[in-house]
Amino acid sequence: MHRPGPDPRPTGTDRDPGSLTAVIDLHTHSTVSDGSDDPARIAELAAGAACSAVALTDHDSLAGIDAARKRADELGVTLVPGCEVSCVPVGSGGVHVLVYFVDDEGSALGTELGRLRQDRHQRNLALIDRLVALGIPVTYDQVVAVAGGEEGVGRPHFAEALVAVGAAESVDDAFERYLANGRLAYVPKGRLNPADVAQLALASGGVAVLAHPFSTGLEGVGLARFVGELAEAGFGGIEAVYGRYSPRQRQELGNLARRFDLVATGGSDYHGRTKPDLAVGTGRGDLKVHDGVLARLEARRPGA
Ligand code: AMP
Ligand code: ZN
Ligand code: FE
Ligand code: FE
Repeated sequence: MHRPGPDPRPTGTDRDPGSLTAVIDLHTHSTVSDGSDDPARIAELAAGAACSAVALTDHDSLAGIDAARKRADELGVTLVPGCEVSCVPVGSGGVHVLVYFVDDEGSALGTELGRLRQDRHQRNLALIDRLVALGIPVTYDQVVAVAGGEEGVGRPHFAEALVAVGAAESVDDAFERYLANGRLAYVPKGRLNPADVAQLALASGGVAVLAHPFSTGLEGVGLARFVGELAEAGFGGIEAVYGRYSPRQRQELGNLARRFDLVATGGSDYHGRTKPDLAVGTGRGDLKVHDGVLARLEARRPGA
């Protein structure tokens, strides 16, 4: 409906979807995990995209938070500490859980992240053994070089290394042939249940959010049932406005969030050059996460 005349709503408030309201990005990765930009650069990109706040959500690690926060402070951007934890899958897909507001390595969550990193390291060594046994001339050092260090080495780095040695045509091809669940060189690693991550988050003063819910492989009633279980288990939100989701998908997830009284969060899932279609703050150009989302998420923290 077109409404002529001046808009009677106050500007700069929660109800104003116009350009005066700030945007945020609650999902980004740095070189601490499988992103290609260092943590300080994430803060700079957020400032460049006029974000009032940005969350750094590296896989299994809080190690980039301090550097990102230092730069964010200089630029007047709020740095939201975060991380992303890969959980036991449901159905055909993966379950990724974002945790916000925890920056303490010594917290219950921080301690568990340390265990997950150790397990990831063992998995990486086993994965190299598997590839070598398949006759692929790739070394652990090559994969570490791709990752820019031993911290946070993951399958995307293996994929790049496989392309570099000519064993795969592309990153996708490397997953398809060797790295994806059930493929030739797949080695599983330790995973938590989403409910456990939610409890670790709450015990550490944080909030858990289901990342990119359609990656679970669930949809319709199946997805609704799963999201309902997460709400029961102490989740604070689901990621509805995701960089790679269509307006219709975002709307469906927004409806699910309302139904289960969860915060509909959003973010780009920026990784730098490994996902070149996604930019901090704007995703594929159509991302717009209102800063009011952060306040609603803060309200889900224990004791808030
Ligand atoms: P890891 O945590 O080392 O097991 O790697 C998980 C990461 O690999 C995910 O976050 C994705 O970015 C990527 N990934 C997983 N499965 C695939 C796939 N089938 N195709 C492309 N990338 C994938
Ligand atoms: Zn990632
Ligand atoms: Fe993810
Ligand atoms: Fe992510």
